[in-house]
Amino acid sequence: MSINIPRGTQDILPGEVETWQLIEDAAKRLCRLYQYQEIRTPIFEHTELFSRGVGDSTDIVQKEMYTFEDRGGRSITLRPEGTAAVVRAFVEKKMFGNPDQPVKLYYMGPMFRYERPQAGRFRQFVQFGVEALGSNDPAIDAEVISLAMNLYGELGLKKLKLVLNSLGDPESRKAHRDALVSHFKPRIGEFCGDCQNRLEKNPLRILDCKKDRDHELMKTAPSIIEYLNEGSRDYFEKVKEYLGQLGISFEVDPKLVRGLDYYNHTAFEIMSDAEGFGAITTLCGGGRYNGLAEEIGGPETPGIGFAMSIERFIAALEAEKVSLPVEKKIDCYLVSLGDRAKDYTVGLLQELRKLGVSAERDYLGRKLKAQFKAADRLNARFVAVLGEDELDKGVINLKNMETGDQEEVELASFVEKFREQQG
Ligand code: ATP
Ligand code: MG
Repeated sequence: MSINIPRGTQDILPGEVETWQLIEDAAKRLCRLYQYQEIRTPIFEHTELFSRGVGDSTDIVQKEMYTFEDRGGRSITLRPEGTAAVVRAFVEKKMFGNPDQPVKLYYMGPMFRYERPQAGRFRQFVQFGVEALGSNDPAIDAEVISLAMNLYGELGLKKLKLVLNSLGDPESRKAHRDALVSHFKPRIGEFCGDCQNRLEKNPLRILDCKKDRDHELMKTAPSIIEYLNEGSRDYFEKVKEYLGQLGISFEVDPKLVRGLDYYNHTAFEIMSDAEGFGAITTLCGGGRYNGLAEEIGGPETPGIGFAMSIERFIAALEAEKVSLPVEKKIDCYLVSLGDRAKDYTVGLLQELRKLGVSAERDYLGRKLKAQFKAADRLNARFVAVLGEDELDKGVINLKNMETGDQEEVELASFVEKFREQQG
């Protein structure tokens, strides 16, 4: 019996992977412009990091983690997201002591969640995310949002919607929390089991429930916006003002929540408005988490970040029918005839490659015509033909496939010729 790929995972094959590389390269380039530096943390962590850092009441921790005991009896979890590990590293490596503050980091890599696979929802997916730690300036909130928006925009997405909310500071959140409990408590019996648990643990998350979203109490639930104290309102106004200055339009949705206790102030999602995108329209989620570093045992540190998956990025590109300029091209294909010529191309190929010329030759003993076809499939700019006669004369036949021009070049200066062209 043959063995298949696990559910919810994918093989990304040549022909598809180029799109991934374009997105990844664009993300890295933007991070350099914005001065976010890469951090690489382990694929697995102690389970406790996520139960504390993502939060016990979240779907991720309750239902979606790949957790196992290792041979030493420790509980280990494949990372379901990136923020907790970045903040752990920030605390553990004492980056709060770095001279350059805030510490601006990005990561890119696979995450694992045991979810029900569907379009846009995988069990292994790749997230790109950034985190800015150590600043409470609303300008950094706007910067983080603009980085994500610019990345989507740069690769051609137009139908984007930025949804924004403020969860306020701890005082505002407490007042709102009390109001939510009073609002839902009398009729909590009408809600799902998850919501009943959330009522005391984290009532904010009720607003995020997918099962009960149409319950009438959802529409009349107290809005966080009304509970923001002055400081929180000012902060939110500043973020909005900066976004305006950056030309980024947004919608305020008081029901947008990030459910953890240490999330505060800015929360945002970037959605795709493209028709035919399907049920899942969130491309990117982010927010401010000023209490997280402390939760993980570090000093009080403000932080903000976002995470997006490349899978949903690509789904949005497809929905908007944007095709990225993926170029398949090589500089030179070496066609050879006869054993001696074939042998000679082994060294020639190496010399070309050493000069940075992308080059290929035949490895299947194909006839002349088939070799030319192979060169065509690879979209070779030049085809160099070497037969026994040429070899004896010390020349090689170089054909420019774009112009059709052909010339005989001295074998000795052939590689040199490419060097000039590269110049
Ligand atoms: P959702 O409500 O869609 O489940 P989430 O709140 O679980 O999203 P976050 O934890 O905020 O998502 O993750 C940030 C981003 O990571 C999402 O906006 C999405 O782009 C991506 N993402 C999350 N889960 C998956 C998944 N299972 N497959 C692919 N991408 C995902
Ligand atoms: Mg989810």
